[in-house]
Amino acid sequence: MYKKCSRCGSGMELVLRNVVYRGRVKIMNVPVHVCENDACSHSQVVDVIKADLKKLMEEWGQHPQRQSINFEDVSELSHLMVLIAKEKEDATVREALQERVNELLDLFLLARSLGDQKWMHELRQRLTKIMV
Ligand SMILES: [Zn+2]
Repeated sequence: MYKKCSRCGSGMELVLRNVVYRGRVKIMNVPVHVCENDACSHSQVVDVIKADLKKLMEEWGQHPQRQSINFEDVSELSHLMVLIAKEKEDATVREALQERVNELLDLFLLARSLGDQKWMHELRQRLTKIMV
């Protein structure tokens, strides 16, 4: 998940942001990379969720109704990040957990790109267990 800023080359931090689409649709908890350099503070939507986001935008079309949606309901990554954010354990545990989740997420994306439903199901269960 580590990413370098395309503008200044600094590291980027993974955070959850609320994004407004066409001034009408408020999308809560969208994973976004934000540049750690305050002078730059360039931000961009995380690559792996672009497909999910694009699908939603296609459903809404050019003139969406005023609404507010929770991105964690459609995006696995957002869902996990929201859960992690709610965790009350100390930073070390959280970091270790996030690292493991990132690993599983990478595998999940691989499974999805291969269209391997059985593997996806298995990984989903493993991810769920970690988060309990
Ligand atoms: Zn930057």
